[in-house]
Amino acid sequence: MEGTRRGWRKALGLCSAACCAAALALVAWGNLRARPAQPAPAPPAGPLSGRVVAVDAGHGGYDGGAVGGATRVLEKDLNLDVALRLRDLLTAQGAQVLLTRDGDYALCDEDPLIRKKLQDMQRRAALVASGGAELLLSIHMNEYADRRQSGPQVFHRPRCPAGRLLAETLQQCMNDTLQPSRARTVQAGDYYVLTLGLPAALVECGFLSNRAEEALLQSADYRQRIAQSVCEGVLAWFALDERPQALAAQQR
Ligand SMILES: [Zn+2]
Repeated sequence: MEGTRRGWRKALGLCSAACCAAALALVAWGNLRARPAQPAPAPPAGPLSGRVVAVDAGHGGYDGGAVGGATRVLEKDLNLDVALRLRDLLTAQGAQVLLTRDGDYALCDEDPLIRKKLQDMQRRAALVASGGAELLLSIHMNEYADRRQSGPQVFHRPRCPAGRLLAETLQQCMNDTLQPSRARTVQAGDYYVLTLGLPAALVECGFLSNRAEEALLQSADYRQRIAQSVCEGVLAWFALDERPQALAAQQR
């Protein structure tokens, strides 16, 4: 995740200066080698019917993200696996799910002159905006210099009531379901993906720098439990009595 953090913070600084580049990127969409995720079939009726949820699998393609300290597993692969599991679970609850990627690729051109990370993020943002999503979940794996750090943690945009409430709801469900040895609390984070104008949360599923958690994250059963806990969080979020108030506060 650290690479993403630096990259997305850097992109924040570049955003206003790069608006022309962003427009060019959208024009060039048809020439992409990296394709947008394929549209999903209509979901069955369920408690999330009529809801559109964007699920962003962090990194991809040339950008592997964090690397497991013991096994060298790549964050991008685990992110995609969790995102696809979450897609299936949300769809089963009736949601229409918009994936920013459904394979191992980044949404940028191969031209080395283009700032790949910035273009990748801008195209993800364009996909989320064009799909009418009302909620965005960005899936990542964490890493930290202190290898003792562990546990899932959810980030929200600073001073964003709806994002914070969403993050708190997801964090509670993840802590309840996954029962980490250290139950973390939500944290504000300066990430591009949290600034797209809709309630958004960046979900760090666990630490690849912690040997025990690295092993846990490579268990398909554990990744399924992660996806289930996030899905439960989404269901809880849409049922929250405080949600309309938090959304209204965000729009002021
Ligand atoms: Zn990451």
